Amino acid sequence: MINLSDKQVEQLNSLKKVSEFPSSLKTPTLNTKVGYKVRNTTGGVCLFTKELINKNEVICFGDSSKIDKPIIYSHQIEENIHLIGPGGLDHNCQNPNCRIESGTNNFIAIRDLKKDEFLTFNYLTTEFDMNNSFLCSCGEARCFKNVKGFKYLNDIEKEYIYNNFYLSDFLKKKYIDFSKNI
Ligand SMILES: [Zn+2]
Repeated sequence: MINLSDKQVEQLNSLKKVSEFPSSLKTPTLNTKVGYKVRNTTGGVCLFTKELINKNEVICFGDSSKIDKPIIYSHQIEENIHLIGPGGLDHNCQNPNCRIESGTNNFIAIRDLKKDEFLTFNYLTTEFDMNNSFLCSCGEARCFKNVKGFKYLNDIEKEYIYNNFYLSDFLKKKYIDFSKNI
């Protein structure tokens, strides 16, 4: 586990790509069928499928460095433990095509993916309290708008996420603890 200072968090968040991270931080191993390209609508660098990918196929492995604080390119796996992500997995409120896999912390495909699909997951299925919250403008009917972390959802939204998305093992535990206290 790597403990980051606030200064290091700030420096990492200022980088555009995980390939610019210092070598002391390991980034996840990617499926060779995915790559990075610029998404014209946002100008951001995103992961996309270079060829067909089957449902449940691994997109990236959970073999990256563990850090003690969230950064832009991380996802939470335990209280105070975050994994460096691949960068370029965008948030999607309604129809994400990837999710974190229970038990492994790999990201896997939710369904069969065509060639040239951008890869997304719902950040609220892994993040309890985000370092970089943002206003989502996806326009979907069930858009979460201010995406800040699972912690900030109201009771109805928490239940909706729990029932309709694949929550990480960490957030499942949190949700079950939370429901006991209602
Ligand atoms: Zn949205």
